[in-house]
Amino acid sequence: MTLQTAASAVPARIVKPAPRVPPNLADYDATCAAFSWARAGAELDGLPAGGLNIAHEAVDRHLGGPREARTAIRWIGKAGARRELSYGDLARQTNRFANALRNLGVLPGERVFVLMGRLPELYIAVLGALKARCVVTPLFSAFGPEPIATRAEMADARLLVTTPELYQRKVKGLRARLPGLKEVVVVGEAPTGEPGVVGWDALVSTAPDRFTIEATDPESMALLHFTSGTTGRPKGAVHVHGAVVAHAVTGRYALDLHDDDVFWCTADPGWVTGTSYGIVAPLVAGVTNVVVEAEFDAETWYGVLEREKVSVWYTAPTAIRMMMKLGAAAVQGHALPALRFMASVGEPLNPEAVAWGVEAFGLPFHDNWWQTETGGIMIANFAALDIKPGSMGRPLPGITAAIVRRSGSGVEIVETPMTDGELALKAPWPSMMRGYLHEDERYRKCFVDGWYLTGDLAKRDDEGYFWFVGRADDVIKSAGHLIGPFEVESALIEHPAVAEAGVIGIPDPTVGEMVKAFVALKPGFEASEALNRELLGHARKRLGAAVAPKAIEFRANLPKTRSGKIMRRLLKARELGLPEGDLSTLESDEQK
Ligand code: ATP
Ligand code: MG
Repeated sequence: MTLQTAASAVPARIVKPAPRVPPNLADYDATCAAFSWARAGAELDGLPAGGLNIAHEAVDRHLGGPREARTAIRWIGKAGARRELSYGDLARQTNRFANALRNLGVLPGERVFVLMGRLPELYIAVLGALKARCVVTPLFSAFGPEPIATRAEMADARLLVTTPELYQRKVKGLRARLPGLKEVVVVGEAPTGEPGVVGWDALVSTAPDRFTIEATDPESMALLHFTSGTTGRPKGAVHVHGAVVAHAVTGRYALDLHDDDVFWCTADPGWVTGTSYGIVAPLVAGVTNVVVEAEFDAETWYGVLEREKVSVWYTAPTAIRMMMKLGAAAVQGHALPALRFMASVGEPLNPEAVAWGVEAFGLPFHDNWWQTETGGIMIANFAALDIKPGSMGRPLPGITAAIVRRSGSGVEIVETPMTDGELALKAPWPSMMRGYLHEDERYRKCFVDGWYLTGDLAKRDDEGYFWFVGRADDVIKSAGHLIGPFEVESALIEHPAVAEAGVIGIPDPTVGEMVKAFVALKPGFEASEALNRELLGHARKRLGAAVAPKAIEFRANLPKTRSGKIMRRLLKARELGLPEGDLSTLESDEQK
């Protein structure tokens, strides 16, 4: 690996040696020029009955060929249990669940919620419900009763699949409040004598294992996914069956999935990454999809990579930063010859983290960018292209991205390289959201002059790489400068003592907003006045006085969403003594 080192500790550009496996996207410009969504769609199967259905493309399409016997889902349970489902098994199991829904009278278009840990039944339920043309909403199993109830009410949940324990602890008490929730299917020992509660085994094992998917309009609703709630109350993004075309294309190009890959996406399906890339894209590609029930633990994860011979790995910045905390030596005790491509999404990936991938794994992390609303990866670092650490990469073939400024009722495209503006995507593309549930006005406001406005600020360089600046809501305006928290956080993380940083603006009568940083330290470092001064000095040296934080506060942890995003809005609300807003997706929190 050639590292062309610039002034800072992290190389400005990582030029990769020729990949071991020829990338699917070998020539970026030629592929983009020749690409059309219509042609990409035509490469999928389509339903025998007409239309397009995600579950057919992910499962049934592989039957009758060599993939039928291949492992589709390799499940690794918390206590070391394993379960393998071939594509053939998955087809039969999902058929049973689709038949079970039909037997219960659940109609196409009705909402099926899934609330459970990463168990095989979760995957069967999601795909089976899609076969029955129901609309699926996966929830985080760690949600408390209130976030479950508000989402189920908002989306008019008809049926929910859960575990006995979650039923008792969270769902039972909500039944009176959710009259539309007619059935709860319990995986495992079902409670007896509860009206509207059915055991999975009784329901599914007796249902026939053959099912014909009815004609599915590609524009019909398939998934309803709630956003992470990083900036406010989560929104319900509506996605359609036609989105599968984008899942296929992004799996092929952004994750570089090849036929014989063993793929692991660490995200939970309660977050859109865990559905689009933890379920749909790998199965559409016909690879073996590893599902790990346990939550993050570095040693467990390295063990999975090694034992399962994972070749393509898709994870998130928070997890990478946690691994960095423990150091590269912990990785190097594992033999990972199968691993050939690593990608990350969900938050900006600090340049330091990209470079750490090279140090620890001999491979860089490929950052990519997308949102619940976009349904699939939109901007990515590709296997065949150089990486500029800190950049999200370049738009997918079929995606036109630009930096724009809102002007009057329209938008103006910012042509000057490295100039801040809002990241916009030319509408439409197959996995674009088709609505925010019950929020039409808000949905319409996202589209101006044929562009979808993402609410993220970014810049584009002269080679067409995009650089994340910050969410429009998080950007700090200080003494005439527009400061993206990411830039400041990344500079702080370069310091050996810093594990994580969250940066906010505090109203200030002189400069407008003052930059303040919250910092969590790596093991072995103690918070002290001297370290505080050292970090302020380090940031000033790296960023200049105008952008560097004026104050730093040490924290054991930073507040994060369940999908692992730093909740800057909460740091700010607490700092200013303002209402904390919707906390339904808050995960770690030392103050509560
Ligand atoms: P909410 O919309 O409810 O506030 P959210 O925006 O965090 O929550 P998601 O749709 O899960 O919900 O996250 C998408 C957002 O995550 C993007 O708009 C962007 O701000 C951030 N993001 C995702 N990937 C990246 C990345 N590679 N670099 C920088 N930011 C990213
Ligand atoms: Mg968002």
